[in-house]
Amino acid sequence: MNALKAIQLMNKYSKCKKCGNDKVGGDEGVLSVEDNIFIRSCKCGWEIEIDTDK
Ligand SMILES: [Zn+2]
Repeated sequence: MNALKAIQLMNKYSKCKKCGNDKVGGDEGVLSVEDNIFIRSCKCGWEIEIDTDK
């Protein structure tokens, strides 16, 4: 994934769409970029996974 795309996704999903939590790490949530997969999840159960190759 190119850096610009990664930053766009991080900005778009910086906050949980369900509860508004903007924290990641520990038990709060996950923000992960691996190859073409962007993953953002939250302790409330909200999760999104985006394959930027598609
Ligand atoms: Zn949440």
